[in-house]
Amino acid sequence: MAKPPESARGAAYRAGQESALRDAVAQVVAHTPVTDLHTHLFAPAFGELLLWGVDELLTYHYLTAEVLRATSMPYDAFWRMSKREQADLTWRELFIERSPYSEACRGVLTALHAMGLDTATRNLDDYRAYFAAQKPSEYVDKVFKAANLECAVMTNDPFDAGERPVWESGYAGDPRFHAALRIDPLLNDWANACPKLKASGYDVELGLGAKARAEVRRFLTDWLTRMKALYMAVSLPPDFAFPEESARATLIAECVLPVAREHGAPFAMMIGVTRQINPALKLAGDGVGYSSVRPVHHLCAAYPDNKFMVTMLSRENQHELCVAARKFRNLFLFGCWWFLNNPSLIEEMTRMRFELLGPSVVPQHSDARVLDQVLYKWEHSRKIITKVLAEKYADLLAAGWVIAESEIERDAQKLLSGNFWDFVKA
Ligand SMILES: [Zn+2]
Repeated sequence: MAKPPESARGAAYRAGQESALRDAVAQVVAHTPVTDLHTHLFAPAFGELLLWGVDELLTYHYLTAEVLRATSMPYDAFWRMSKREQADLTWRELFIERSPYSEACRGVLTALHAMGLDTATRNLDDYRAYFAAQKPSEYVDKVFKAANLECAVMTNDPFDAGERPVWESGYAGDPRFHAALRIDPLLNDWANACPKLKASGYDVELGLGAKARAEVRRFLTDWLTRMKALYMAVSLPPDFAFPEESARATLIAECVLPVAREHGAPFAMMIGVTRQINPALKLAGDGVGYSSVRPVHHLCAAYPDNKFMVTMLSRENQHELCVAARKFRNLFLFGCWWFLNNPSLIEEMTRMRFELLGPSVVPQHSDARVLDQVLYKWEHSRKIITKVLAEKYADLLAAGWVIAESEIERDAQKLLSGNFWDFVKA
């Protein structure tokens, strides 16, 4: 007979103790270290690719989109400004002239506050002075400690002229940062990727004959190995289809999936981004579109020996995606991506996932592009995960179930880190 939870170490909670249970969940979720499975951060060895500090926070593309709504300044004039001038404008328009309660603005304040800065002074130059005194590698430790982050997964593009030389010159690795092989140029722009591969010594041609497909597999294997990448990843448009007659579908079926199978590496698909709906906004100009979940069904069913990590950008896709995950054990759902990274939507998605999939998901990733953003993304998300988890446990207490503290710890560890590692290593 199974032991009752009272015999486990620590406290146990039963009906009538919902308030104490909520406090315990808050404590456990706050103290459980996170593996941040998708970020755009870089290890300090990548030099200026690692972004951090208040000017980077203020010129992040989420805020750029908001400040360009708040002013009538011509877009070109904004892009001609220096980063510091753009940050000054954003601070004045979004934080001084208006209350900064959009999630992107609030996030800047949470991050500054977490670093011990006094947001009540509203003195941007004081904040700048604080960041100017930090040293990157030590500052990474400081931020990871404050955010209770165990490690983060980078997004690594072998086509990127900035990071490629670091990998090729024998980057030694950094235990705080893992790699993910990002293959957007390969899958979304084969016409331009093909000559680049050829220039790097891979004997490919646009038609993707047998020899070219073997060479793309060699390219993927080389980079997966060089980066020790945990998974391969791509972002895809709302009209993503599979199977279909296209270079992308051929590359997925004949190159990506065989290499992923051979290495036991998941293939991560981030589906639903419409690139450049307003090109004048540059990096801030991407939008969202409703996508079909059928390509995900097809891939999971036709390739049962492959592992798929999926997140979708449209709110309207979330229910269908949860149902898909119930049907396929090789489908792993993660995070609340980009335009979904707002408290009301995170709460809705987390509740839906817990109800349909129990503890078998990773409810959040930070997608941080600026180091300091992990401070707010995890503080805000931990609060929501706590709220929903405590509510679900309270429902169990109402049915007479008893929850041990050790069980809360087990579940939080799976949600914030363990599920991802189990899936990667499966
Ligand atoms: Zn991302």
